[in-house]
Amino acid sequence: MSKRRMVIAGNWKMNMTPSQAKNFASELYEAVKGKRGCDIVVCVPAIDIPAVVKVCAGTAIKVGAQNVHFKNSGAYTGEISPEMLIDAGVKYVVIGHSERRQYFGETDETVNLRTKAAVAAGLTAIVCVGETLTEREQGITAEVVAKQVKLALSGISADQMKKVIIAYEPVWAIGTGKTATAEQADEVCGLIRSVVASLYGKVVSRSTVIQYGGSMNAGNAAELLAMENIDGGLIGGASLKTDAFTAIVTAAQ
Ligand code: PEP
Repeated sequence: MSKRRMVIAGNWKMNMTPSQAKNFASELYEAVKGKRGCDIVVCVPAIDIPAVVKVCAGTAIKVGAQNVHFKNSGAYTGEISPEMLIDAGVKYVVIGHSERRQYFGETDETVNLRTKAAVAAGLTAIVCVGETLTEREQGITAEVVAKQVKLALSGISADQMKKVIIAYEPVWAIGTGKTATAEQADEVCGLIRSVVASLYGKVVSRSTVIQYGGSMNAGNAAELLAMENIDGGLIGGASLKTDAFTAIVTAAQ
């Protein structure tokens, strides 16, 4: 196991109505009660935030959002600002998820703007990077991921890196049931750590939390989380099932 504290974060995506979210969060709280060996986060749809924050208040479960705008207010219909998230009790935010890059025009530039705004507001940004299947087959994974990391972190100070988590999420592994092998995942997480070292030095790179995400489940979590450079998981499908998410949390203890 690595020496960094693990962060297990569920990404509910566009699932759970507010009433379902309230019930599910209560169930989850009961299931993970006492498991204090890792940080536990649920990144929920914006409309579920008040209900989930209420249920998780005073528990070990922290609440995250799935996106954030880079301005604190203004004429940006449909957007949610860092200030709003903070006021609502949110601590984490997923930025640059591949689904946002793929379907909603998210670019490395907007990922960078959101990351800067999120950390400046005091949120912990979970910044997602990862190659597509074509890019892996072309042998350019390292190049693609290094570029995404450098652009996402542009303008972030060494001190602000305490508020940044990087999630390595190979696009071909998200929601497909195809998991990267532990070695493949560790290799890219190690590369990300070396990019962070080149930008901020070894002390920062050694303490930066780097998660793996992509079909992590109850069966493969222990092996992935045992790797040197993998400090937790960003979990989609399996975070919607109490048993599976609890098993991943247990694997991270
Ligand atoms: C994700 O949404 O970040 C993710 C990794 O999804 P899944 O676990 O379903 O592959």
